[in-house]
Amino acid sequence: MLEINGLSAGYGQHRALEDVSLRVNRGEIVVILGANGAGKSTLLKAISGVCEGRVSGEIALEGQELAGLPPHRIVEEGIALVPEGRGIFGDMTVGENLTLGAYSERARDEEAGSLDRVYALFPKLRERRRQQARTMSGGEQQMVAIGRAMMSNPSILTLDEPSLGLSPLLCKELFQSLRAVRDAGLGMLLVEQNARQSLAIADRGYLLENGQIVHEDRADALLNDPAVQRAYLGGAAASEAPKRKPEAHTMRQKSADPSEVAAAALKTVGHKPPRPAPAPRPSPAPAPKPEPRPAPQPVPPSEPRPPRPDAPSASDLLGTDVGDLVARASSASSRREHATNGRAPSAPAAPRPAASTPGPAASGDRLSALLSEIEGAARRAETWRPTNPKRR
Ligand code: ATP
Repeated sequence: MLEINGLSAGYGQHRALEDVSLRVNRGEIVVILGANGAGKSTLLKAISGVCEGRVSGEIALEGQELAGLPPHRIVEEGIALVPEGRGIFGDMTVGENLTLGAYSERARDEEAGSLDRVYALFPKLRERRRQQARTMSGGEQQMVAIGRAMMSNPSILTLDEPSLGLSPLLCKELFQSLRAVRDAGLGMLLVEQNARQSLAIADRGYLLENGQIVHEDRADALLNDPAVQRAYLGGAAASEAPKRKPEAHTMRQKSADPSEVAAAALKTVGHKPPRPAPAPRPSPAPAPKPEPRPAPQPVPPSEPRPPRPDAPSASDLLGTDVGDLVARASSASSRREHATNGRAPSAPAAPRPAASTPGPAASGDRLSALLSEIEGAARRAETWRPTNPKRR
Protein backbone atom coordinates (compact mmCIF):
# COMPACT_ATOMS: atom_id res chain seq x y z
CA MET A 1 0.00 0.00 0.00
CA LEU A 2 1.15 3.54 -0.81
CA GLU A 3 0.56 5.82 2.15
CA ILE A 4 1.16 9.54 2.12
CA ASN A 5 1.01 11.69 5.24
CA GLY A 6 1.38 15.45 5.62
CA LEU A 7 2.96 15.91 2.21
CA SER A 8 3.75 19.54 1.37
CA ALA A 9 5.56 20.97 -1.62
CA GLY A 10 6.46 24.49 -2.69
CA TYR A 11 8.22 26.38 -5.42
CA GLY A 12 9.95 29.40 -3.91
CA GLN A 13 7.27 31.26 -1.96
CA HIS A 14 4.44 29.35 -3.65
CA ARG A 15 2.89 26.49 -1.65
CA ALA A 16 1.71 24.00 -4.27
CA LEU A 17 0.79 21.20 -1.82
CA GLU A 18 -0.27 21.60 1.77
CA ASP A 19 -0.41 18.73 4.23
CA VAL A 20 -1.75 16.14 1.79
CA SER A 21 -2.58 12.68 3.11
CA LEU A 22 -3.88 9.79 1.03
CA ARG A 23 -3.48 6.09 0.39
CA VAL A 24 -3.63 3.74 -2.56
CA ASN A 25 -4.06 -0.01 -2.13
CA ARG A 26 -2.96 -2.66 -4.55
CA GLY A 27 -5.66 -3.54 -7.07
CA GLU A 28 -7.31 -0.17 -6.55
CA ILE A 29 -7.72 2.88 -8.79
CA VAL A 30 -7.69 6.16 -6.90
CA VAL A 31 -8.45 9.31 -8.83
CA ILE A 32 -7.33 12.83 -7.95
CA LEU A 33 -9.64 15.55 -9.24
CA GLY A 34 -8.71 19.18 -9.18
CA ALA A 35 -8.74 22.36 -11.22
CA ASN A 36 -5.77 23.61 -13.21
CA GLY A 37 -2.98 24.55 -10.86
CA ALA A 38 -4.48 22.64 -7.89
CA GLY A 39 -1.22 20.74 -7.44
CA LYS A 40 -2.06 17.38 -9.04
CA SER A 41 1.14 17.06 -11.11
CA THR A 42 3.18 18.30 -8.17
CA LEU A 43 1.69 15.51 -6.06
CA LEU A 44 2.69 12.81 -8.55
CA LYS A 45 6.14 14.33 -9.08
CA ALA A 46 6.72 14.55 -5.34
CA ILE A 47 5.80 10.87 -4.94
CA SER A 48 8.23 9.91 -7.71
CA GLY A 49 11.04 12.12 -6.44
CA VAL A 50 11.13 14.38 -9.51
CA CYS A 51 9.51 17.52 -8.08
CA GLU A 52 11.66 20.60 -8.75
CA GLY A 53 10.41 22.31 -5.58
CA ARG A 54 10.89 21.68 -1.85
CA VAL A 55 9.08 18.59 -0.60
CA SER A 56 8.37 17.51 2.98
CA GLY A 57 6.19 14.83 4.54
CA GLU A 58 5.96 11.04 4.53
CA ILE A 59 5.70 8.79 1.49
CA ALA A 60 5.71 5.11 2.35
CA LEU A 61 5.28 2.03 0.19
CA GLU A 62 4.52 -1.17 2.10
CA GLY A 63 5.80 0.62 5.17
CA GLN A 64 9.12 1.55 3.50
CA GLU A 65 9.85 5.29 3.67
CA LEU A 66 10.55 6.76 0.21
CA ALA A 67 10.61 10.52 0.85
CA GLY A 68 13.96 11.98 -0.11
CA LEU A 69 15.10 9.00 -2.20
CA PRO A 70 16.37 9.67 -5.75
CA PRO A 71 13.89 8.86 -8.53
CA HIS A 72 15.59 5.65 -9.70
CA ARG A 73 15.44 4.26 -6.15
CA ILE A 74 11.73 5.02 -5.98
CA VAL A 75 11.22 3.09 -9.24
CA GLU A 76 13.26 0.29 -7.74
CA GLU A 77 10.91 0.23 -4.75
CA GLY A 78 7.91 -0.23 -7.03
CA ILE A 79 6.41 3.15 -8.02
CA ALA A 80 6.30 4.11 -11.71
CA LEU A 81 5.15 7.42 -13.16
CA VAL A 82 3.46 7.93 -16.53
CA PRO A 83 4.15 11.64 -16.91
CA GLU A 84 1.91 14.22 -18.52
CA GLY A 85 2.83 14.41 -22.21
CA ARG A 86 3.97 10.74 -22.18
CA GLY A 87 7.71 11.41 -22.51
CA ILE A 88 8.34 8.60 -24.95
CA PHE A 89 11.41 8.53 -27.20
CA GLY A 90 10.00 9.27 -30.65
CA ASP A 91 13.00 8.14 -32.68
CA MET A 92 13.13 4.75 -31.00
CA THR A 93 10.82 1.89 -31.88
CA VAL A 94 7.87 0.89 -29.75
CA GLY A 95 9.74 -2.22 -28.62
CA GLU A 96 12.84 -0.21 -27.64
CA ASN A 97 10.73 2.21 -25.61
CA LEU A 98 9.17 -0.68 -23.73
CA THR A 99 12.50 -2.38 -23.05
CA LEU A 100 13.89 0.87 -21.62
CA GLY A 101 11.22 0.69 -18.94
CA ALA A 102 12.77 -2.54 -17.63
CA TYR A 103 16.05 -0.82 -16.79
CA SER A 104 15.74 -1.14 -13.01
CA GLU A 105 17.15 -4.17 -11.21
CA ARG A 106 13.71 -4.98 -9.91
CA ALA A 107 12.42 -5.24 -13.48
CA ARG A 108 15.27 -6.98 -15.31
CA ASP A 109 14.56 -10.51 -14.16
CA GLU A 110 10.92 -10.03 -14.99
CA GLU A 111 11.45 -8.38 -18.38
CA ALA A 112 10.08 -11.15 -20.60
CA GLY A 113 7.03 -11.71 -18.39
CA SER A 114 6.36 -7.98 -18.14
CA LEU A 115 6.56 -7.59 -21.91
CA ASP A 116 4.04 -10.40 -22.38
CA ARG A 117 1.69 -8.70 -19.91
CA VAL A 118 2.00 -5.39 -21.74
CA TYR A 119 1.39 -6.99 -25.14
CA ALA A 120 -1.59 -8.87 -23.72
CA LEU A 121 -3.05 -5.60 -22.49
CA PHE A 122 -2.21 -3.63 -25.63
CA PRO A 123 -2.12 -6.09 -28.56
CA LYS A 124 -1.51 -3.19 -30.95
CA LEU A 125 1.89 -2.59 -29.39
CA ARG A 126 2.99 -6.10 -30.30
CA GLU A 127 1.87 -5.55 -33.91
CA ARG A 128 3.70 -2.21 -34.03
CA ARG A 129 6.76 -3.10 -31.95
CA ARG A 130 9.14 -2.23 -34.82
CA GLN A 131 7.41 1.04 -35.68
CA GLN A 132 9.03 4.36 -34.73
CA ALA A 133 7.18 5.59 -31.66
CA ARG A 134 6.62 9.12 -33.01
CA THR A 135 4.66 7.73 -35.96
CA MET A 136 2.10 6.17 -33.62
CA SER A 137 -1.19 7.94 -32.98
CA GLY A 138 -1.70 9.88 -29.74
CA GLY A 139 -3.65 7.04 -28.17
CA GLU A 140 -1.08 4.47 -29.22
CA GLN A 141 1.73 6.64 -27.84
CA GLN A 142 -0.17 6.77 -24.55
CA MET A 143 -0.27 2.97 -24.57
CA VAL A 144 3.52 2.96 -25.13
CA ALA A 145 3.98 5.28 -22.12
CA ILE A 146 1.78 3.13 -19.88
CA GLY A 147 3.40 -0.05 -21.19
CA ARG A 148 6.89 1.33 -20.54
CA ALA A 149 5.93 2.21 -16.93
CA MET A 150 4.52 -1.29 -16.46
CA MET A 151 7.79 -2.75 -17.67
CA SER A 152 9.40 -1.57 -14.43
CA ASN A 153 7.25 -4.16 -12.68
CA PRO A 154 5.68 -1.64 -10.31
CA SER A 155 3.19 -2.27 -7.56
CA ILE A 156 1.82 1.27 -7.85
CA LEU A 157 1.40 3.13 -11.14
CA THR A 158 0.87 6.88 -11.09
CA LEU A 159 -0.56 8.49 -14.21
CA ASP A 160 -0.72 12.21 -14.99
CA GLU A 161 -3.64 13.01 -17.29
CA PRO A 162 -3.25 10.00 -19.59
CA SER A 163 -6.39 10.88 -21.58
CA LEU A 164 -5.15 14.37 -22.49
CA GLY A 165 -5.50 15.00 -26.21
CA LEU A 166 -7.19 11.71 -26.99
CA SER A 167 -10.37 11.39 -29.04
CA PRO A 168 -13.48 10.20 -27.17
CA LEU A 169 -13.10 6.74 -28.68
CA LEU A 170 -9.43 6.47 -27.68
CA CYS A 171 -10.31 7.77 -24.22
CA LYS A 172 -12.80 4.98 -23.82
CA GLU A 173 -10.23 2.40 -24.90
CA LEU A 174 -7.63 3.90 -22.57
CA PHE A 175 -9.90 3.75 -19.53
CA GLN A 176 -10.80 0.16 -20.35
CA SER A 177 -7.07 -0.61 -20.48
CA LEU A 178 -6.52 1.02 -17.09
CA ARG A 179 -9.25 -1.13 -15.65
CA ALA A 180 -7.45 -4.17 -17.03
CA VAL A 181 -4.17 -2.97 -15.45
CA ARG A 182 -5.94 -2.64 -12.10
CA ASP A 183 -7.43 -6.11 -12.49
CA ALA A 184 -3.87 -7.37 -13.01
CA GLY A 185 -3.27 -6.36 -9.37
CA LEU A 186 -1.57 -2.96 -9.66
CA GLY A 187 -2.60 0.02 -7.60
CA MET A 188 -3.11 3.20 -9.57
CA LEU A 189 -3.08 6.85 -8.61
CA LEU A 190 -4.73 8.62 -11.48
CA VAL A 191 -4.74 12.38 -12.07
CA GLU A 192 -7.42 13.22 -14.58
CA GLN A 193 -9.37 16.14 -16.02
CA ASN A 194 -11.81 13.66 -17.49
CA ALA A 195 -13.68 13.33 -14.21
CA ARG A 196 -16.65 11.37 -15.48
CA GLN A 197 -14.73 8.57 -17.14
CA SER A 198 -12.06 8.35 -14.49
CA LEU A 199 -14.62 8.17 -11.68
CA ALA A 200 -16.47 5.51 -13.66
CA ILE A 201 -13.46 3.17 -13.48
CA ALA A 202 -12.08 4.32 -10.11
CA ASP A 203 -12.66 2.83 -6.66
CA ARG A 204 -12.09 5.98 -4.65
CA GLY A 205 -11.30 9.62 -5.26
CA TYR A 206 -9.88 12.73 -3.61
CA LEU A 207 -10.66 16.35 -4.43
CA LEU A 208 -7.61 18.59 -4.44
CA GLU A 209 -8.15 22.35 -4.15
CA ASN A 210 -5.33 24.87 -3.91
CA GLY A 211 -2.92 22.16 -2.85
CA GLN A 212 -5.16 20.68 -0.16
CA ILE A 213 -7.32 17.58 -0.05
CA VAL A 214 -10.81 18.93 0.61
CA HIS A 215 -12.86 15.76 0.19
CA GLU A 216 -12.48 12.01 -0.12
CA ASP A 217 -15.09 9.40 -0.99
CA ARG A 218 -15.94 6.30 -2.96
CA ALA A 219 -15.89 6.98 -6.68
CA ASP A 220 -19.60 6.23 -7.15
CA ALA A 221 -20.49 8.61 -4.32
CA LEU A 222 -18.36 11.37 -5.88
CA LEU A 223 -19.99 10.74 -9.23
CA ASN A 224 -23.40 11.44 -7.67
CA ASP A 225 -22.29 14.30 -5.45
CA PRO A 226 -23.98 17.54 -6.66
CA ALA A 227 -20.95 19.64 -5.67
CA VAL A 228 -18.64 17.38 -7.67
CA GLN A 229 -21.07 17.42 -10.56
CA ARG A 230 -21.11 21.22 -10.52
CA ALA A 231 -17.35 21.59 -10.26
CA TYR A 232 -16.04 18.75 -12.41
CA LEU A 233 -18.83 17.17 -14.40
CA GLY A 234 -20.40 20.18 -16.11
CA GLY A 235 -23.47 19.99 -13.86
CA ALA A 236 -26.52 22.12 -14.62
CA ALA A 237 -25.83 24.52 -11.79
CA ALA A 238 -22.34 25.16 -13.12
CA SER A 239 -23.51 25.80 -16.66
CA GLU A 240 -26.24 28.12 -15.41
CA ALA A 241 -23.89 30.15 -13.28
CA PRO A 242 -23.99 33.78 -14.40
CA LYS A 243 -20.88 34.95 -16.15
CA ARG A 244 -20.00 38.18 -14.38
CA LYS A 245 -18.03 40.90 -16.03
CA PRO A 246 -16.63 42.86 -13.12
CA GLU A 247 -14.79 45.34 -15.37
CA ALA A 248 -17.97 46.35 -17.19
CA HIS A 249 -19.76 46.60 -13.85
CA THR A 250 -17.10 48.96 -12.55
CA MET A 251 -17.24 51.08 -15.68
CA ARG A 252 -20.97 51.58 -15.28
CA GLN A 253 -20.52 52.64 -11.71
CA LYS A 254 -17.96 55.22 -12.68
CA SER A 255 -19.80 56.94 -15.54
CA ALA A 256 -23.39 57.60 -14.55
CA ASP A 257 -25.87 58.62 -17.23
CA PRO A 258 -26.45 62.41 -16.75
CA SER A 259 -30.14 62.02 -17.51
CA GLU A 260 -30.34 59.59 -14.62
CA VAL A 261 -28.59 62.12 -12.42
CA ALA A 262 -31.18 64.73 -13.41
CA ALA A 263 -34.02 62.26 -12.90
CA ALA A 264 -32.63 61.46 -9.45
CA ALA A 265 -32.42 65.19 -8.71
CA LEU A 266 -36.02 65.77 -9.79
CA LYS A 267 -37.10 62.84 -7.71
CA THR A 268 -35.40 64.48 -4.77
CA VAL A 269 -37.43 67.63 -5.49
CA GLY A 270 -40.58 65.52 -5.30
CA HIS A 271 -39.62 64.44 -1.80
CA LYS A 272 -38.38 67.88 -0.71
CA PRO A 273 -40.44 70.61 -2.44
CA PRO A 274 -38.56 73.90 -2.55
CA ARG A 275 -41.58 75.89 -1.36
CA PRO A 276 -44.49 74.65 0.69
CA ALA A 277 -47.50 75.07 -1.58
CA PRO A 278 -50.87 73.34 -1.61
CA ALA A 279 -50.60 70.40 -3.89
CA PRO A 280 -52.99 70.50 -6.86
CA ARG A 281 -55.88 68.06 -6.53
CA PRO A 282 -55.37 64.98 -8.59
CA SER A 283 -57.05 65.36 -11.93
CA PRO A 284 -58.80 62.41 -13.59
CA ALA A 285 -57.78 63.83 -16.93
CA PRO A 286 -54.66 62.26 -18.32
CA ALA A 287 -51.64 64.01 -16.93
CA PRO A 288 -49.13 65.41 -19.37
CA LYS A 289 -47.43 62.34 -20.69
CA PRO A 290 -43.71 62.16 -20.36
CA GLU A 291 -42.00 62.37 -23.70
CA PRO A 292 -40.53 59.05 -24.69
CA ARG A 293 -36.81 59.23 -24.37
CA PRO A 294 -34.35 57.12 -26.27
CA ALA A 295 -33.10 54.23 -24.17
CA PRO A 296 -29.40 54.65 -23.57
CA GLN A 297 -28.89 50.91 -23.07
CA PRO A 298 -30.06 47.97 -25.21
CA VAL A 299 -33.05 47.44 -22.94
CA PRO A 300 -36.39 47.00 -24.76
CA PRO A 301 -38.31 50.29 -24.41
CA SER A 302 -41.44 48.47 -23.20
CA GLU A 303 -39.58 46.88 -20.33
CA PRO A 304 -38.93 48.70 -17.10
CA ARG A 305 -35.36 49.77 -16.54
CA PRO A 306 -33.59 47.25 -14.36
CA PRO A 307 -33.06 48.54 -10.85
CA ARG A 308 -29.54 49.74 -10.16
CA PRO A 309 -29.04 49.46 -6.43
CA ASP A 310 -25.33 49.88 -7.04
CA ALA A 311 -25.66 53.16 -8.91
CA PRO A 312 -24.34 56.19 -7.08
CA SER A 313 -26.91 58.79 -6.11
CA ALA A 314 -26.85 62.24 -7.68
CA SER A 315 -25.65 63.62 -4.37
CA ASP A 316 -22.80 61.13 -4.35
CA LEU A 317 -21.73 62.21 -7.80
CA LEU A 318 -21.97 65.93 -7.25
CA GLY A 319 -20.68 66.00 -3.69
CA THR A 320 -23.56 68.21 -2.56
CA ASP A 321 -27.23 67.93 -1.69
CA VAL A 322 -29.21 67.95 -4.92
CA GLY A 323 -32.34 69.05 -3.10
CA ASP A 324 -30.55 72.31 -2.22
CA LEU A 325 -29.40 72.73 -5.81
CA VAL A 326 -32.91 72.25 -7.09
CA ALA A 327 -34.34 74.66 -4.57
CA ARG A 328 -31.78 77.28 -5.60
CA ALA A 329 -32.35 76.74 -9.31
CA SER A 330 -36.11 76.81 -8.89
CA SER A 331 -36.19 80.01 -6.85
CA ALA A 332 -33.73 81.70 -9.25
CA SER A 333 -35.95 80.72 -12.14
CA SER A 334 -39.09 81.93 -10.41
CA ARG A 335 -37.45 85.27 -9.53
CA ARG A 336 -36.54 85.76 -13.20
CA GLU A 337 -40.03 84.84 -14.30
CA HIS A 338 -41.60 87.18 -11.75
CA ALA A 339 -39.39 90.05 -12.82
CA THR A 340 -40.35 89.52 -16.47
CA ASN A 341 -44.20 89.30 -16.32
CA GLY A 342 -45.05 90.18 -12.74
CA ARG A 343 -47.02 86.96 -12.38
CA ALA A 344 -46.87 85.11 -9.09
CA PRO A 345 -45.21 81.75 -9.34
CA SER A 346 -47.57 78.81 -9.22
CA ALA A 347 -47.13 75.41 -7.72
CA PRO A 348 -44.78 73.10 -9.49
CA ALA A 349 -46.23 70.48 -11.75
CA ALA A 350 -45.27 66.88 -11.87
CA PRO A 351 -41.75 66.91 -13.19
CA ARG A 352 -41.13 65.64 -16.68
CA PRO A 353 -38.50 63.00 -17.01
CA ALA A 354 -35.28 64.56 -18.13
CA ALA A 355 -34.27 64.20 -21.73
CA SER A 356 -31.20 62.17 -22.41
CA THR A 357 -28.23 64.43 -22.96
CA PRO A 358 -24.74 63.48 -23.90
CA GLY A 359 -22.69 63.47 -20.72
CA PRO A 360 -19.91 65.97 -20.20
CA ALA A 361 -16.88 64.31 -18.70
CA ALA A 362 -15.96 66.91 -16.09
CA SER A 363 -18.11 67.12 -13.01
CA GLY A 364 -18.28 70.95 -13.37
CA ASP A 365 -19.81 70.59 -16.82
CA ARG A 366 -22.09 67.90 -15.51
CA LEU A 367 -23.20 70.21 -12.74
CA SER A 368 -23.97 73.01 -15.23
CA ALA A 369 -25.88 70.60 -17.45
CA LEU A 370 -27.83 69.40 -14.46
CA LEU A 371 -28.63 72.93 -13.29
CA SER A 372 -29.91 73.96 -16.70
CA GLU A 373 -32.03 70.79 -16.82
CA ILE A 374 -33.48 71.67 -13.47
CA GLU A 375 -34.09 75.26 -14.44
CA GLY A 376 -35.89 74.05 -17.56
CA ALA A 377 -38.02 71.78 -15.44
CA ALA A 378 -38.78 74.61 -13.06
CA ARG A 379 -39.78 76.90 -15.99
CA ARG A 380 -42.08 74.25 -17.34
CA ALA A 381 -43.56 73.92 -13.88
CA GLU A 382 -44.31 77.65 -13.82
CA THR A 383 -46.31 77.51 -17.04
CA TRP A 384 -48.11 74.25 -16.43
CA ARG A 385 -51.90 74.36 -16.11
CA PRO A 386 -54.27 71.47 -15.54
CA THR A 387 -55.85 70.25 -18.77
CA ASN A 388 -59.34 69.89 -17.18
CA PRO A 389 -59.93 73.00 -15.04
CA LYS A 390 -63.63 72.06 -14.42
CA ARG A 391 -62.61 69.24 -12.11
CA ARG A 392 -60.47 71.47 -9.90
P1 ATP B 1 -2.75 21.33 -14.39
O1 ATP B 1 -4.02 20.55 -14.30
O2 ATP B 1 -2.95 22.64 -15.07
O3 ATP B 1 -1.60 20.53 -14.92
P2 ATP B 1 -1.90 20.88 -11.69
O4 ATP B 1 -3.03 20.67 -10.74
O5 ATP B 1 -1.20 19.66 -12.17
O6 ATP B 1 -2.37 21.77 -12.89
P3 ATP B 1 0.69 21.75 -10.84
O7 ATP B 1 1.34 21.58 -12.17
O8 ATP B 1 1.02 20.76 -9.79
O9 ATP B 1 -0.89 21.87 -10.96
O10 ATP B 1 1.02 23.20 -10.31
C1 ATP B 1 0.60 23.63 -9.02
C2 ATP B 1 1.13 25.04 -8.82
O11 ATP B 1 2.54 25.02 -8.73
C3 ATP B 1 0.80 25.97 -9.97
O12 ATP B 1 0.47 27.23 -9.43
C4 ATP B 1 2.06 26.02 -10.78
O13 ATP B 1 2.19 27.27 -11.40
C5 ATP B 1 3.12 25.84 -9.72
N1 ATP B 1 4.27 25.14 -10.29
C6 ATP B 1 4.30 23.91 -10.82
N2 ATP B 1 5.55 23.59 -11.22
C7 ATP B 1 6.32 24.65 -10.93
C8 ATP B 1 7.72 24.92 -11.09
N3 ATP B 1 8.55 24.04 -11.64
N4 ATP B 1 8.16 26.12 -10.68
C9 ATP B 1 7.32 27.02 -10.10
N5 ATP B 1 6.01 26.82 -9.92
C10 ATP B 1 5.50 25.63 -10.33
